Order: sequence, then C-alpha cells, then structure tokens
Amino acid sequence: MRPAEGSHLPGISGPGTHEWGFCRAGEIRRRAGEIRRRAGEIRRRAGEIRRRAGEIRRRAGEIRRRAGEIRRRAGLSGLGRCEQATWSSFHVSLVADSGRLPLEWQPSADPWHPQTCPSLSMCLSGTRRFLLLYATQQGQAKAIAEEIREQAAARGFSADMHCMSELDKYDLKTETAPLVVVVSTTGTGEPPDTARTLVQKLQDRALPADWLCHLHYGLLGLGNTEYMYFCNGGKILDRRLQELGARRFYDTGHADDCVGLELVVEPWIDGLWAALTKHFTTSRGKKDSSEAPAAAPGAPKSEPQQLASLPVHSQIALLRLDTGPQVDAGASEGDTADGRRSDPLIEEMEPSLTRSAPPLSEASLSVPALPPESLQVTLQEALGQEESQVPVTSAGPVFHVPISKAVQLTANDAVKTALLLELDISKTAFSYQPGDAFHVLCPNSDAEVRGLLQRLHLEDKSQHCILLEVVGDTRRRGAALPQHLPQNCPLHAILTWCLEIRATPKKAFLRALAEWTSDAAERRRLLELSSKQGAADYGRFVRDARLGLLDLLLAFPTCRPPLRLLLEHLPRLQPRPYSCASSSLSHPGKLHFVFNIVEFLSPIPAVARRRGVCTGWLATLAATLLQPDALGPAADGGHGPAPQISISPRPINPFRFPEDPLIPVVMVGPGTGVAPFIGFLHHREKLQEQRPGVNFGATWLFFGCRHRDRDYLFREELQHFLQQGVLTHLKVSFSREPVGEDTAAPRYVQDNLRLHAGQVAQVLLHGNGSLYVCGDAKNMAKDVSEALVDMVSAEAGLQRLEALRTLAAWKEEGRYLQDVWS
Ligand code: FAD
Repeated sequence: MRPAEGSHLPGISGPGTHEWGFCRAGEIRRRAGEIRRRAGEIRRRAGEIRRRAGEIRRRAGEIRRRAGEIRRRAGLSGLGRCEQATWSSFHVSLVADSGRLPLEWQPSADPWHPQTCPSLSMCLSGTRRFLLLYATQQGQAKAIAEEIREQAAARGFSADMHCMSELDKYDLKTETAPLVVVVSTTGTGEPPDTARTLVQKLQDRALPADWLCHLHYGLLGLGNTEYMYFCNGGKILDRRLQELGARRFYDTGHADDCVGLELVVEPWIDGLWAALTKHFTTSRGKKDSSEAPAAAPGAPKSEPQQLASLPVHSQIALLRLDTGPQVDAGASEGDTADGRRSDPLIEEMEPSLTRSAPPLSEASLSVPALPPESLQVTLQEALGQEESQVPVTSAGPVFHVPISKAVQLTANDAVKTALLLELDISKTAFSYQPGDAFHVLCPNSDAEVRGLLQRLHLEDKSQHCILLEVVGDTRRRGAALPQHLPQNCPLHAILTWCLEIRATPKKAFLRALAEWTSDAAERRRLLELSSKQGAADYGRFVRDARLGLLDLLLAFPTCRPPLRLLLEHLPRLQPRPYSCASSSLSHPGKLHFVFNIVEFLSPIPAVARRRGVCTGWLATLAATLLQPDALGPAADGGHGPAPQISISPRPINPFRFPEDPLIPVVMVGPGTGVAPFIGFLHHREKLQEQRPGVNFGATWLFFGCRHRDRDYLFREELQHFLQQGVLTHLKVSFSREPVGEDTAAPRYVQDNLRLHAGQVAQVLLHGNGSLYVCGDAKNMAKDVSEALVDMVSAEAGLQRLEALRTLAAWKEEGRYLQDVWS
C-alpha cells in the first residue's frame, strides 16, 4: 500500500513519492537478485544431491563387490562357503545431505565374522576360547574387557573373563588358550591394586626364562600421557610376559586417556578378531606358531600393528585421519585445502553438542553394536522402609564415624580452599599408620539426583525399591547382577550412593540412548557422537566437556531411556582416597585429613560452577562446624549432632615410612600433598619423646604453595616441628609471591630441590635415605622427577640414562615412593 502524500516512511530518506517509488523499485530489484541467487543455490544443492546419489549408488556397488569378495575368500580359505553377507556388529546407513535417504544396509565388513559366514562360525565354534584378564583401577579396563567379551560372543569366540586378582580362576602356567589382557595404570605408574598379586608372582626371579613359552597373548595398556609413566602398568606386565617366554599373537596397544582411550581401544579391538582368527587357524595346523602377524590371511596389516611401532602422537594422528568422512570421497568445488567447505551457508553452521555440521552430518556412520539388554528392573513400593544412609556394597569393612572438627586452613582470598576434617574413630576398630590413605564413601549431589529423577519422570518412585534380575535369554555373555547395586534398595539411594552419575557417557551408552530418542535429528546426532566418524565431535563436546548423563539428557529432550539402561551403563560410584594427616600416637581415637574443595566450570550454562562430588559434599557437611571467621579450630558443641561419614581402609598402602628411625627421609609435598608428612612428623615427635636416648635420622621437607599468607598450610605446626628438631630442614617455595630483589628465589618445590641438590644427593646417594613425593600427579611429580634425574647425574657424574636407572632402582627398593593424584 502506498503511504499518504508527504508522509515519511521510517528508514527511507526523502519525503517525495518519486523518491519512494525509486527506492521501492531498488528494493524489488534487490529481492529479485536474492531470489535468483537462492535459485542458483538450490540448483547447486540439487546437483550436489544428484552427485551424492551417484556416490551412494557407487558405494552400493562396492558393498556388493565386497560381499562377493567375502564369499570368495571364505571359499578359498577352505573353511566354508559363505551364504550371505550381513553386517550385524556395525550398521552403515547412507545419508545424503542433511536428510536421510531411504537406504540402509547392514552388510558385514569383517570376512571372519561368523554371521557373515555361518558355516565358518560352525567350523570354528567350540575351539575359539581365549582367556581375558583385566586389571582395573577405576573401572575403565573392566568396561573395555566387557566390550571385548561382548564382541567376542558376536564373533563366535568365547571369552573366559576374569579380574586379574581372581588367581584361583585361571592358571597361566597351564593355560593353552590365547590370553588377552587389558590393564590400566595408577597415577604412580604402577599396575592397579588388583594386578599386584599376579605381577608379584610373575616377578619371582626364580622363574625360568621359558616358564610361559606355551602362552600367546595380546595386551592393551591404558594410561594417560599427562602422567609421568604412561601405560606403565601394561608395560611392566608386557615386559615380564616376554621375559618368561610368552609370545604376542597381536601387537600391544597403548591407549591414552588424555586424548581419549577410544582412539586406540576401538581399532585395537577391531584388529583383535583377525589376530585371534589367525592364531587359531595357524595353531591348529602348526602348534608351534611363532610371533604371528595380526592381520587376517590376505588382509592388509591391521591398524594397531602398523601403529604400535610409532610414537603415541603419531598413532593418534594416524587414527584421526582414519575417522574422516566416508561418503564424500571426492572433493567438491567448494572444498578448501584443509577439507573444510568454503560455502558461507555451511560455515555458519558451527557444530555443537546437539548440532552437527557437514561433513559429519552427511557421512555414513559406523556405530557400535547395540549392547544387548541384560537387566530386568522392577520398582516396588517400599513398605515403610527408611532409606538407609549408605547402601554398603564395599568389599572391605565400612565405618560410620562422626566429624568431630573442621578447620579452614586457607585464607578466604586463597585461590583454593583447603579444609582439615577430624574424624572420631574412637568407637570403631579402624586403625592406621603414618602414610596410609583411606576411602571416603561419598554421595552424588542431591540436586543432580533429583534432576535425574525428574528428567526420567521417576520423582514419584524415588523411594520405590529396586529389584534386579538378569534377563533370562539375554545375549550378553556372562551377564550378572552388578555387584555395586544392592537388591531391594530405594531408587533414590541407588542413584545417590552407587552410581557415578557424572561419569562421561561412553560411546556404547550414547548408541543405546539413541534407541530411546524419538526426535529424528536428536537421534541422528547421538548416533553421530557414538560413531567412528564422529570421534572428533565426541572428544570435543562429550569427553573434553566432561559431560554427564544429566547434562546430556537436558540437551536431548526427547531421549527417554528406561531405568535399566542407566543401571547397565553407569559405572560404580568410586570412593575417594585421602591421606591420613595425623598420627594415632599423638591423636588417639582421631583421624585427620586435608583436602582442597574442587571447583570447575560446568558444561551447562545454567549452572555456572560445580564442585567435586566428594569434596563438595564434605565442604557442605563441614560448613556447620566451621567457625565463621575460618582459620582456627571450631568448637565441637552447640551445632547439633555431628555429621557422620562412611570410611573404609585402603587395602594396599605402599606409602609407608621407614621402620628404622635412623634412615634419613626427604619429603616433597606441595599443597595438600603435605598431608601424610604432617602425620609422619606428629608420629616422629611422639617417638622422640618416648625414646629420649635414641638417634633419629635427618628429615627434609620441601613444601610449596602460592602465597605466604593465604595457603601456607600447617605453617605453625611446621615451625613447631622445626624448633623441636623433629623436622631438621624445611624448604618452602611460593609460586605467586612478587619476585622483588631476590630473582633467584625458588618458585616451586622442584626449584628448591635443585637449589639444595648437593645436600639432598648426599642423603639419597650416600646416606641410604628414602624419598617421598605426594600431591599433584600431572605436573609436580613429573617436574620433581626431572629435577631428581638432573641432580643424580650432576652429583654422581652419571649419564642421564644411568641416572634414570638409579631412580628406578630406588623405586624397586622401596626408597622412592609416590602418592600422587590429579
Ligand atoms: P571429582 O568429582 O571426582 O572430580 C575429579 C576431578 O575431575 C577434579 O579435579 C575436577 O577438576 C575434574 N572434573 C570433574 N568433573 C569435571 C567437569 N565437568 N569439568 C571439568 N573438570 C571436571 N586429595 C586431597 O585433597 N587430599 C588428600 O590427602 C588426597 N589423598 C589422596 C591419596 C590417594 C592415594 C589418591 C589416589 C588420591 C588422593 N586425593 C587426595 C585425591 C582425592 O581422592 C579426590 O580425587 C579429590 O579430592 C577430588 O575428589 P572429588 O570427588 O571432589 O572430585
């Protein structure tokens, strides 16, 4: 409609109608141009879709060709004739543009897959048993072993799976089947506690060099390159198996949790089947099989084989290349040199957790097999039962103890808040030695549990009891009731005390969640994140973002998983270990420990900050006991009943101080790493009082913090120990104090060690002294170790390699002990 004469249109300069008409014509021309541009764009995209359809046809032909090849190879191998090709462990759906084409195949990529080749499976069934051992610290190795067992069953193998500690269930000396080992590494570079007995047994120097010469094995080590001894648990075991004559039928894999275990774990498992098949085939014809190559007959060398000889970073780089798009084999016009599209429309579509972008959104996906259902869950109305405080499923004894005191050790303006808690253990049988650590059983945040119940529409059933049964006809091999889930326990208690609800969902879990997602786009995105092709997005938006299940469910609103899926996939809520910071001699009936309240940014914008599961909970409990002014002991009375926590002893504690009081000790413990040394010094003080005539060895403590007045933990106690001669040398460094004139002032504990290298070397090299390092595993322990290597080479005149050997020897002798954590 034309405006009245002389009137003004907002945003158009000039009052006259002529001018208005001129502008309008311009606008129409602009619009027409835009429409032409859009039409061109639509034509371009139509061409693109045609090109993709051609590509899909080409790939369909390729699949037909490969199916024929599989039939031919099965025939040639003499193992049977392949009747049909089906892809059951991985399904590939071919997708064009951002929509799905009505094309979906499920062909098998694996010529040795029993479902590809039923007669092959029959021919081999019954003979393809292998022993599968895992040693896990936090459940990762166990989960991977379970995945291997699962896949093994689907491929016609039989995995006889055991935790390494179950020595009565297997015998390596008489084992004739191949052995597959999955082993993780602790923060100190040791194999997990559950591997210790086997490792000790294997390390018996009296064993002959051919003790395991009958054994063929494949080993997958898990570790983290941020720690000093990457995959050392696996390396120790691997080396010893070799020394005892065992031979690898498949190359060792070293998976790095720093960049994502799956980058090595998935291809390693993929390659395992061909290696096992090869092993069974060759060992049938020729019992004495030598170091067998991993690849299946005629197939190219498997990825882990080629990769294993490369440094880990190259392995990762290569594996990343492999995760590239599959459909878009040919580059199209708009592609840039680095493979990204220059199309501005596409550039605008940045991927996020819930939104994918090309090429992933257009890629065919290889997703993990859908894990078979194994648990049947019944929710039963509770008959007047109260929710117990802790549903105990711990293997060791659990003690419920009151917190008798809470002290804030840091000033209010410190970067981190450190608290000391005193537990009253006088009415329990709990006992400890200096250097010991113990477990705190902690609950998940109540807000997060309620959030999860709400999201699952189970709020009204939160006090219903859970009855668990194994699904009678489950296809899951070795399906059993999870040991960490007590029967007949209220749902709320299970989610609170038993399951790590913040655990980052694994790809298999995402895959399973996709099945319960009604919206097609959400479902597709979950499948992408679980797929090989989506590995980078999984790393970026799930793993690195430390996304928990609740975060995920909030981001994918149409995902409505059943409760059983959560119980099947969420790992056990791990108790958190803490070092004892007191001595039973000086604090009878009491136990002290110290911790920093862990805080980090939440991946959910609505929740700005989150606290660590255990330290956040402990801080809330302590709040009722803390003096308002902080710093200084709190009164015990007047606050109502003391809050109680549940603790259990840590079964293996190698971090013990020397029994001989003459042995000099060097202790390195910045921040809360000082905790066990405080316990040791209290203990030593009492011993010195009790034995006045006895000589005691020198005690060195290297402590570090940020600021002298904000986070210098136990400052008064340390000065007191120094005055009493209990501590003979105290060396403190401040990393954030202004440098001032003393530019050479040490900033970190390792700088101080270097500064006193001569004296420290004297204690360790010539005084038979013991060295203790406690605290941050990622940076501090590495830097201290480097300083020690330099110190030993300089002071003893050794080459670096020799210095490293010296440190390793100290470790073997129990003279260099670490208690480090991240
Ligand atoms: P968690 O919730 O388990 O979080 C663990 C870490 O992951 C945190 O550091 C956090 O930064 C990070 N994180 C978790 N979720 C996210 C996310 N979404 N985004 C970003 N980051 C995230 N600690 C002490 O303070 N004092 C001790 O004396 C002590 N002794 C120990 C002795 C031993 C032998 C061991 C193995 C560990 C010891 N620890 C000690 C460490 C302690 O067990 C806990 O790991 C620590 O207190 C954190 O527990 P949490 O449950 O609060 O944190």
